[in-house]
Amino acid sequence: ANPIRVAVNGYGNLGRGVEKSILAAPDMELVAIFTRRDPASLDTLSGKAVSIDDMADYQGKVDVCVNCGGSATDLIEQGPAVTQYFNTVDSFDTHAKIPEHYATMDSVAKDNDHIAVISSGWDPGLFSINRVIAEAVLPEGSTYTFWGRGVSQGHSDAIRRIPGVKDAKQYTVPVQEVVDRIQAGERPELTTRDKHLRECYVVAEEGADKAAIEEAIVTMENYFADYDTTVTFISEEELLRDHSAMPHGGQVIRAGETSANTNQVYGFTLALDSNPEFTGSMLVATARAAARLAAAGERGCRTVLDIAPALYVPIDADELRAHFL
Ligand code: NDP
Repeated sequence: ANPIRVAVNGYGNLGRGVEKSILAAPDMELVAIFTRRDPASLDTLSGKAVSIDDMADYQGKVDVCVNCGGSATDLIEQGPAVTQYFNTVDSFDTHAKIPEHYATMDSVAKDNDHIAVISSGWDPGLFSINRVIAEAVLPEGSTYTFWGRGVSQGHSDAIRRIPGVKDAKQYTVPVQEVVDRIQAGERPELTTRDKHLRECYVVAEEGADKAAIEEAIVTMENYFADYDTTVTFISEEELLRDHSAMPHGGQVIRAGETSANTNQVYGFTLALDSNPEFTGSMLVATARAAARLAAAGERGCRTVLDIAPALYVPIDADELRAHFL
């Protein structure tokens, strides 16, 4: 069979993760990496960077384009623009705005005879699939999502904006005692503070008032005020040495019962050394599914919830039945 021709749009952390995963895929060919920056300035693995201004020239040469821009502003603009040219996949993770993004992408994809799969990755993505299956199988119960231990980019950025802070990393950490209770079948009512802790590692500028920085962090509305937060001051060398990776993960747990006093606990866990590489890997599996849906004549927007598991793997249906069932 011909390889699936894939393009990447945007070369940040996620773009690089997607590139690695495409290069490792047995059934794919990387055609181009589109960027808004000077392509010559990017240190890609494949040497395939080209200007986003040349995108139209690639029509008919790309089966799927993976949009790797940020959810805050990039994906909302780039999603519809790129879906005019290609089938697309993205990792849009602003949960409250997914219905709106879906409506836009559905209309553009239908108008241009394409498939657009939005909000793949792990949350949204694999966690979403597991929340749905858990609830289908255990209609009587409660679902809990825990994130971490992992780096939150948004929270790290918020700390960096405090005067006197040179650099910072923030880890979101689930409260293990609460996780254990749910896994034992309990169904507690939980507040935000009960579920996660926030650990902050901060490099202060010379002579900065550390007590004032700590106070500014722990009282910050929407970010830290509702959590138990610890602040540890470290040196720049320590931050670089111990906190440069982008680990993440988490778990979806549904505690339910199928009849009185018959507890059933469903759990799905991810422990990731690299959030962007794992998310990139899921996006590439989703790109494979998107190419197959498009080849089967489907059009419009889809999410991971609409896609059959068999479409994600480069294995034919007979082998799939023989090995995975
Ligand atoms: P980055 O900030 O690293 O990259 C976003 C875009 O910014 C890139 O596409 C790139 O576009 C541009 N960019 C990257 N580096 C630079 C730079 N040095 N200077 C100028 N521009 C740059 O974001 P991430 O890749 O870490 O994350 C992308 C999105 O992925 C997040 O917003 C998040 O929403 C989503 N995500 C989703 C997950 C899920 O489970 N669904 C999990 C993890 C992330 P260009 O090349 O065109 O300049």
